[in-house]
Amino acid sequence: MDTTRQYKELDECYYMPAFSRDMAIVRGEGTKVWDAEGNEYIDCVAGIAVCSTGHCHPAVVQAICDQAHRLIHCSNLYYVPHQGDMAKRLVEITGMHKAFFSNSGAEATDGALKLARVRTGKKKFVAFTHGFHGRTVGSLAVTHKPSIREPFEPLGLIRTFVEYGDVDALKKVVDQDTAGVIVEPIQGEAGVIIPPDSFLEGIREACDTTGALMIVDEVQTGMGRTGKWLAMQHTKVTPDIVTLAKGIASGFPMGALLAREGIEFRKGEHGSTFAGGPLACSAALATIGVIEKILPEVSLKGERFRQGLKKYHPRIRGLMIGITVGDTCPDIQKSCREEGVLVNCAADGNLRLVPPLTISDSEIDRVVRVIDGALGQILL
Ligand code: PLP
Repeated sequence: MDTTRQYKELDECYYMPAFSRDMAIVRGEGTKVWDAEGNEYIDCVAGIAVCSTGHCHPAVVQAICDQAHRLIHCSNLYYVPHQGDMAKRLVEITGMHKAFFSNSGAEATDGALKLARVRTGKKKFVAFTHGFHGRTVGSLAVTHKPSIREPFEPLGLIRTFVEYGDVDALKKVVDQDTAGVIVEPIQGEAGVIIPPDSFLEGIREACDTTGALMIVDEVQTGMGRTGKWLAMQHTKVTPDIVTLAKGIASGFPMGALLAREGIEFRKGEHGSTFAGGPLACSAALATIGVIEKILPEVSLKGERFRQGLKKYHPRIRGLMIGITVGDTCPDIQKSCREEGVLVNCAADGNLRLVPPLTISDSEIDRVVRVIDGALGQILL
C-alpha cells in the first residue's frame, strides 16, 4: 500500500495541480475512513455530500458487483438495464413527471439549461450570487464565484446574477425573454445558506408571471440530505425542473434531471454515452433502498447536531450543517482532523458538515465533542 508521500510525489509529477490536498484516503466503511498511514476518521465530508449511505454500503457494493458480472455498459442506443426502474423511482420520490440521466451535477445543470431553452424558445437565464452549479462551460456561466468563473468568460450564455434572497431584485430582471431561473434551495458551496420559504415562493411567482421555468438545483440538497428527498419538499413550491447528483448513487458517478409534465427532451435533443448506465442505475437503486429506510431519522440526527453545537449558531437542515467561523476555518478543519474527524471549509469562512445519512448518534456525539473542542479553543 502506498504512503501519503508516494501519492504526493506522483500527484506533483503527473497530475495537473488544480486541487489543494495533502491527504490520501484509501479505505472506507460506513461513516469511517482510513488514510494511507492507517489513521481512522469519522467522515463528515463524505466526498462532499456524496457518500449518502456511508462508505461501501453492502447493499450498494452488492448491486454494483452483481451488475458488473452481467453487463457494464451497452449504450443508450438500447434499453439499459435498471434505467427505467431508476427513472420510475426518481419520479415517485420527487413528484416530477420524467427523468433524464447524466454523469455529474454539472452535466445535470447543462441539461436543465438546454431543456429550459429548447422548451421555452427563450434565451435568458437568471442565477444568484454565491450560487454554485458546476464547472462545465454551461454550468459555470450560472455559477457566481468570480474567481472560478471570470477567467473563462465569455461563456456564451445570457445570464444575470441577482442577490440570493432578494425577490424584489429578481422580479425586476425576470421578463418575457427569460428561459429559466436557476436556484439552490439551500446554498451548499456558499456554506449552507438557508433562505426563507418566501424567497422560493417569490421565484415561483416571477416564473409563473413571465413563463420562465424554475430550475431547482438539488445536486447537494437532494436525495434525503435535508431529511426529505428534496429540500423543496420542506416548502409548498413545486419547481419545473430539478437536478440531482452527489448522493444519488453513494459515490458512483451519476446525475439526473427531472421535469414536470409537458417539459421533456424530444428525439435527438440531448444525449450522453455513459449517462444512466447499468452500473450507475444499480448503485442508485440500491442507494434509494437504503435511504428510504433511514430518511425519517435524518432530521432527528440534524437536531442532535443542533443541540450539541447550539452555542455556535449552526445553520442546519437535516444533515446539511454550516457554521460561520471566519478566517480560522482551515485551523479548525486541521484541529478536527488531528482529533479524527473530517470536516470541510466551504466559502466565506463557513465550516460545512455533510456526513453520511447513516451516521449514528454516538458518532454525532463524538463529532460534536471534537468540533466543540476545536471551536472552543480557536473561537471563544
Ligand atoms: N450544483 C450544486 C448545488 C453543487 O453543489 C455542485 C457541486 O458541488 C454541482 C452542481 C456540480 O456537481 P459536480 O461537481 O458533480 O459537477
